[in-house]
Amino acid sequence: MTEKLETECPECGAKLRFGLDDVAKQRTVRCSRGHSVKLKDQDGGAGKASKAMADFEKALKRFGK
Ligand SMILES: [Zn+2]
Repeated sequence: MTEKLETECPECGAKLRFGLDDVAKQRTVRCSRGHSVKLKDQDGGAGKASKAMADFEKALKRFGK
C-alpha cells in the first residue's frame, strides 16, 4: 500500500501527487508542467511513518488469517 499525498508545486501551484515512500527516499517529483520538486523528509518523519505503516499492514495480515 502506498499513501498518496498531495502538495502544490512551488513554481506554478500545480497539484503534485506523491507517496510517503517518495518523501522517505527524498525523491524528485515532477509537476504536470514539468518543474521538478525535491521532496524533503524533515526529521526523517516520513521514513518512520512509512515503516510504521508497513508494520501495521503486516500485523493486519496476520490478524486476517
Ligand atoms: Zn510546476
